[in-house]
Amino acid sequence: MKKKQLEMILERLEGFGRPSFQREQYATPATVAAEMLFLAAMHDDLETVCDLGCGTGILAIGAALLGARAVGVEIDREALAAARRNAALVGADVDFIQGDVSRISLRGIDTVIMNPPFGAQKASAGDRAFLSRAIKTARTVYSLHNRGSERFIRAFVQPCTVQEVHRLACPLKRSFEFHSRSVKTIEVELYRISC
Ligand code: SAH
Repeated sequence: MKKKQLEMILERLEGFGRPSFQREQYATPATVAAEMLFLAAMHDDLETVCDLGCGTGILAIGAALLGARAVGVEIDREALAAARRNAALVGADVDFIQGDVSRISLRGIDTVIMNPPFGAQKASAGDRAFLSRAIKTARTVYSLHNRGSERFIRAFVQPCTVQEVHRLACPLKRSFEFHSRSVKTIEVELYRISC
């Protein structure tokens, strides 16, 4: 499958119906998801994949469509129901699990691919809990973060190491009332971390 084809399939998925501001629910745009997944494919990192905080499932579903055994973990039942509908819609086989990333333990996972909450809201577990779980779970982690996170990530994941940092344009659709423009493009950083 070509990247553009994957992107077109992922465009069809439903996003968060009523996004929770506290849980920092932003769905990864299809262009960014396809970029992350193709980078992982290029590194042969798509055997057994876990998407932590999978939301409506775009990363786990994309990984499954590229041939991975995929698992998605999400705390929010509504988001998980949407993720299940999305997987059925595009014929992807994904195991979705309801749980808190700071409590679950998973075995047999090679790669974590995630877009964690950026940790701006106190009520969300924040990127620290996600990064800790990710590096305990898999040998290779792909994780999306705000611009300017590099120093923090490099220090936080030690003794794991950052192998690559990619800067991507991330078009965010309007999702919360107080956002004024309908689409705002921000720059995000994709990390490939090796343990
Ligand atoms: N990975 C999805 C969603 C990103 S938004 C995507 O790429 O589109 C971050 C997600 O993490 C939200 O769905 C939120 O509900 C979930 N989340 C926040 N805290 C969590 C926790 N402690 N355990 C599991 N999921 C959590």
